[in-house]
Amino acid sequence: MLLRLLDQLPLPVAVRSVGAEILGCNQLWRDRQPQSYWQLNYTPLSGAWAGLELITAQEPSLDRLKTEFLACIDHELKSPLTSVIGIANLLNQQTLGELNQTQSRYVQLIHQSGKHLMDTINSIIDLAQAEAGQLALELETIDLKSVCQSSMRQTLRWVEQTAWLNRQPLPQTLIELDLPEGLSTCTADAARLQQMLFNLLTNACKFSHEAQPVSIHITLQVRLWGRWLALTVIDQGIGIAEEQQHLIFQKFQQVDSSLSRRYAGTGLGLVLTRQLARLHGGDVSFVSKAGAGSQFTILLPYDADQTDPPANHLVLIGDTQTAEIERLIKLLHSANYYPVIARNGIEATEKIRLLRPLASIVSADLPLVSGWDIYHTLRREQPMYNIAVSIQAEDSDHSIPEAVLIKPISMPAL
Ligand code: ADP
Repeated sequence: MLLRLLDQLPLPVAVRSVGAEILGCNQLWRDRQPQSYWQLNYTPLSGAWAGLELITAQEPSLDRLKTEFLACIDHELKSPLTSVIGIANLLNQQTLGELNQTQSRYVQLIHQSGKHLMDTINSIIDLAQAEAGQLALELETIDLKSVCQSSMRQTLRWVEQTAWLNRQPLPQTLIELDLPEGLSTCTADAARLQQMLFNLLTNACKFSHEAQPVSIHITLQVRLWGRWLALTVIDQGIGIAEEQQHLIFQKFQQVDSSLSRRYAGTGLGLVLTRQLARLHGGDVSFVSKAGAGSQFTILLPYDADQTDPPANHLVLIGDTQTAEIERLIKLLHSANYYPVIARNGIEATEKIRLLRPLASIVSADLPLVSGWDIYHTLRREQPMYNIAVSIQAEDSDHSIPEAVLIKPISMPAL
């Protein structure tokens, strides 16, 4: 009778004598055979069925599995790795006995490789937590100069270690900080900001070294862009080819995997940097030209005087063509506007929603979501969005593509 009743329940159910073996179950339980990692709930029955317990089984949600997997990585991988790194460090200091040159090099390699593996695991955990909304920032008023300088020192140490690991001569490395005097503090998570800057600075060093192996010159420029704090890492390295630029914010994506193998990259640094910037309420944008270098900008909201907030001078450019992006940037700079770039329709939509630029100029043939779709979707969502769609028109005489703004936007003095 009880078993017949169980068959009518829409989830796997079984009965057992309290604390003992299962006496019977319904068809769903038989079909799906709940495993130990399912969530099992035990309910004691009463009346005629006293002494029996009902077991209902629920499949674990993906979120729970992910959390358990992360906890497992955290514990099962990080604990032994911490021992490997610690012991290698101890041997390296030669307090337990002297090592010959080869032994010393091997121990240092174990130490460096262990640290690299630890960084990778930490990046995976950070990224998963950020995506699950479980990564909390510790926001405070921070001293910009000291955070920038700490990231620069950390990067210089990384350059030294990388040269040593790859048995390469140490490149002469200059990282300049360009920080205006009046700009001393902002609200951010100091450790996370340092992590973001370190990611961008090490990338700048890697890809500058490829272009100029002897000397590296990088600038970390900090500016106030109206309501935004813009931290830009400028390099003169190999740059990124136009056709690869839309790929680089994808997980595990590396434009040249042989280069990344040499520099022990994971393809996670930029995705994580963008996630951390977005957690702050900002974003990351970049411009790059193959053979000429790259500029990566972290945008963070700047909590200026609320009684007199600065004007919004941010303009979004949604385009894939470097020449067109450059042309628009020049035009915007000359009129005191600040460009933020998106290279596909999804990124453009996200950036418009997140950053609320003063205006957006999106190309009609933007990959993934066209400029037209962005225009219609976002204007329906918020009619105040100032969006122009640009189309590429072939100039019949010169075959020069020309951007034509077919929806006028209102930007003073442009
Ligand atoms: P990785 O850890 O492999 O560097 P990232 O997410 O930081 O991963 O970068 C992804 C890819 O983007 C890199 O492998 C490289 O191809 C490209 N990239 C990032 N920064 C630069 C830069 N400053 N110059 C040239 N290419 C870059």
